[in-house]
Parts: sequence; C-alpha cells; structure tokens
Amino acid sequence: MTDFTAPLRLRLDGDALVSNWSWLNARSGKAACGAAIKADGYGTGAAEVMRRLMKAGCRDFFVSNWGEAIAVEPLLEQGVSLAVLHGVRAEDMAAALQSRARPVLNSPAQIARWKGAGGGACDVMVDTGMNRLGLDWRQDVVAETEELEVVTLLSHLASADEDTPLTATQLNRFQDIKNIVPAARYSLANSAGICLGESYAFDLTRPGLALYGGVPRAQAAGAIRQVVFPQAQVLQRRRVLAGDTIGYNATHIAERDMEVAVLNLGYADGYLRGFSGRGSVAFEGESLPVAGRVSMDLVAVDASRSPHVAEGDWVDIDYALPSAAAASGLSQYELLTGLGARFDRVWY
Ligand SMILES: *Cc1c(COP(=O)(O)O)cnc(C)c1O
Repeated sequence: MTDFTAPLRLRLDGDALVSNWSWLNARSGKAACGAAIKADGYGTGAAEVMRRLMKAGCRDFFVSNWGEAIAVEPLLEQGVSLAVLHGVRAEDMAAALQSRARPVLNSPAQIARWKGAGGGACDVMVDTGMNRLGLDWRQDVVAETEELEVVTLLSHLASADEDTPLTATQLNRFQDIKNIVPAARYSLANSAGICLGESYAFDLTRPGLALYGGVPRAQAAGAIRQVVFPQAQVLQRRRVLAGDTIGYNATHIAERDMEVAVLNLGYADGYLRGFSGRGSVAFEGESLPVAGRVSMDLVAVDASRSPHVAEGDWVDIDYALPSAAAASGLSQYELLTGLGARFDRVWY
C-alpha cells in the first residue's frame, strides 16, 4: 500500500498558508493572531496546518469539538493554546478535564457543568447579536461568569464580510462587555473582521477562511494567496459526435464533433453539481470547461482545444476560491470544507 497514489490530489502551498497568516497577523496590529483549524483545517488537514503555523509563530488555535482537539493535542508546543469552540457536554467532561485544551463555555448550563466538575481555566463566548452560541449580551454576563478563570472572552461577528450596521453594533456591545467582564484577553475578529481594521482586533484574532486562501472582503484581495490546488487525473479521452449528449440527464448536447476528457473527480469529492457546465480545468495553459453534469466520481471536460491531454495526465482544477464560488454558487467555506477524503494531500 505504501506506494499507492490516488487519482486525485490536493497540492497545498505551505508558503501561501504562512504568508496568509503573516498578512493577517500584521493586519491584527498589536493583537495576537490565532488560527481556526476546525473541520480538519477547513479540509486541508488540521495537523499539518498547526505544525506549519506554530513554526511561523502562531500560538492560539481553535477547533469545534473534543474529537478535533484530541487529534491535534499531541502536537501542541509549550505555550501554545487550543480552544474548543463548542464548549463542553457532559459526555466530553472526562476528556476535557485531562486535556490541555480549554473549552469555550457558551451557556449558563455549560458554565455550571464546568464549575461542577472543578474545571480550571476556560474561555467564554458572549453572543452580541448573531444568536448562535454564547451568553446573551443582554443578560448579566458579570454574574454568569463569576468565579470563572476566564482566559479569553470571545464574541463572533455575524456579517463582517458585508457592509451592514450590525457589525459596528456588535463591536459596541463587545466593548461594553469588555469594560465590565474580567478576562485575561478579549477576541472578536474572524478573517473578515481583521479586514475591518485594528479596532476589531482587541487582544487576539481568529482567522480561518483567509488562512486557506479565502477572500472575505475586498481589502484581502491581492494579499491573500491561494493555498489549495486540486488536481485530477484523466481516466479516459473520448470523441463525442455532433448531436450526442454528455453525462447524466443529457444536459450537454454537442453542437459539433468534439473531444472530452473524463476526470477522476466528482461530487463525492466535494466537486459539487454547481460546477456542472460552469467549472473549468487547465492543462498546458489551455482552459477546458466542464461539459454536462458532475457525476459522483467523474466529470467530463471539453478537451477539443487540447489535442494532447490523454489518459493518465493530470489537470489543474480551477479552484481560486472567489471565482470558484461565483461559478458554482457555493460559498468559499463550502468549497474548502467539502473537499472529500479521496484526495492525496501533498504539501509543497
Ligand atoms: C469558524 C470561526 C472563526 C473563523 O472564521 P473565518 O470566517 O473562517 O475566518 C472564528 N471564530 C469562531 C467562533 C468561529 O466559529
């Protein structure tokens, strides 16, 4: 098995990952810049991301749940912190008490559970208007967090990737909370929030998307580099005659005789049907558009203008996140986290 290679792979640009973190770190001003590595590092591999970003100087990592925490905990260097955003369930408590990771407590029930178990240092999330996780900013957060050893007090922005008054409203509410709730440090901004300037950075920022090449706001365009480059191997080249149809439901009708290349890639790999007739791949400088519907494990591209592309060749899937999102109708987040398990991950 050792020399087995998959017919599809992710080329992952480690320099781009570090460069993105460094840009976000600089934009965070005096605040420390952490990294969200939940969902297996947004589909790129949490362990490798953590290793590389620790080397670059990142000291704060965020995962969603304890399974994710346990998977990367052995890598934690001295002085590096790991926080579990979903807090702690009763089922997690044994693992949580043994772990070096801290829970981000999100509700009075989680706080009571943590105190009851004699848990020590923790983080706390306050909801300032997203109505997702966290203590309600309108409640008595001071009383709710009494006797807790709060390392980081967090809140999360709902719409920092658009221009809406809610973002500044959340900033003001968080500032008010900061003035009355004691914590060692305060953290509000995700990738988009970092783009809004240092007033959003507080003591610690928590980028995810932009680390992996996502462009959350115009300010990041040109600065954030693509990290994830999917490639797939050609399984078959075939001739399609004028009037023939391609793929499920015959959605592509050949207007003239054409050539197609069929690739080892499909919606089971995260290349979802939104790319049907809309995605494209590159081979030797030529762009080959997707022809017809994406299948579960396969997709056909129009190879008429690439006379050489043949079985066994590797093609580059166009996956610059802003343009791939526009083409497919998926969010940049979904494009990353949907990447399936069949890719070989190759860092370079
Ligand atoms: C996922 C997440 C982040 C990272 O957000 P991006 O938009 O990917 O930068 C930060 N904070 C919390 C609480 C999150 O859930």
